[in-house]
Amino acid sequence: MIPIAKPVIQQEEKQAVSEVLDSGILAQGPRTRAFEEAFASMCDVRHAIATSSGTTALHIALLVHGIGPGDEVITTPFTFIASANSILFVGAKPVFVDINARTYNIDPGLIEDAITSRTKAILPVHLYGLCCDMNPILDIAKRHDLIVIEDACQSHGAEYQGKKAGSFGIGAFSFYPTKNITCGEGGMITTSDGQIAERCRIIRNHGMHKRYFHEELGYNFRMTDIHAAIGLEQLKKLDKFNRIRRENAAYYSANIKGVLLPFEPKGYKHVYHQYTIRVPDGRRDVLRDYLKERSIGSEIYYPVPIHQQSFYKQKLEDDLHFPQTEKAAKEVLSIPVHPSLSQADKELVFKTINDFMEQGSD
Ligand SMILES: *Cc1c(COP(=O)(O)O)cnc(C)c1O
Repeated sequence: MIPIAKPVIQQEEKQAVSEVLDSGILAQGPRTRAFEEAFASMCDVRHAIATSSGTTALHIALLVHGIGPGDEVITTPFTFIASANSILFVGAKPVFVDINARTYNIDPGLIEDAITSRTKAILPVHLYGLCCDMNPILDIAKRHDLIVIEDACQSHGAEYQGKKAGSFGIGAFSFYPTKNITCGEGGMITTSDGQIAERCRIIRNHGMHKRYFHEELGYNFRMTDIHAAIGLEQLKKLDKFNRIRRENAAYYSANIKGVLLPFEPKGYKHVYHQYTIRVPDGRRDVLRDYLKERSIGSEIYYPVPIHQQSFYKQKLEDDLHFPQTEKAAKEVLSIPVHPSLSQADKELVFKTINDFMEQGSD
């Protein structure tokens, strides 16, 4: 089976973990600090704050801006559930805005219509490894005095007009095993604002300002040094992993026929967390089965848009519809693009897709 995702864990990661275990410092400690510094440097920001997951990074990013009950946060319905759940965690209301059909990211042209007097933030998600169109988003945020929280959980190292994902607003990253780099579980907040960074550290650690002095409600959202040690080694390989992902993507784009391919607009650096094709006319699920029968893994990110998830349907008062999102959810299919693919794997993937598409056209 060619898996849809595969973490690359090598001798360096194993050695680093072993050193932490021998050091006796297992919880948040010097490796976490080192990982934060290295990550901040990769993103071209002043500060990075390691967390227990991408979800807790998003949760802190909302908390630190005082977003809570009565507030609204604008985001996309075409994302992983955690993007919207984090808004619910703080008691605020997610307000969804449809996507651009070609990039799968929030359509900046639709954001202003969704702004109300309660809107506090925009939470764009850089889906599949491609940055959102940040200039219009930053313009709107500036005009309406809104915070920008980037869900960069799929876009480590991605760029927009020469700037890194996570450096436009406050960024949230994930190190879940399927992401471009992993530490098992883990997350990171990025910011160049020193005061915000300090408050993120406090919220992450039980609201503790000084040892055992608590001036606000905090959480235990810390990363362990065991995870950070893996993350540090992975981060050294990020450029290489992303280069291979981009090479794999270019190979597919040159060879796959008959389906809509991913799009990298000019001035963007896509890091292909996913390589996502579009298969219309109800044939997506048939192709998925066809690939599976031939030992090729694929996945639908995401089959049910957030506004159509049963839990959200109960919560949201209106019957919402987002045509581009709903269409994409029926047509997208992500195929293996991770750095462990062999040449034979890639050939099998593209040839199998082409065989399937040819059969359908006659
Ligand atoms: C993975 C992911 C998250 C959540 O990250 P975890 O580390 O799994 O909590 C949030 N948003 C997006 C878009 C993701 O892909």
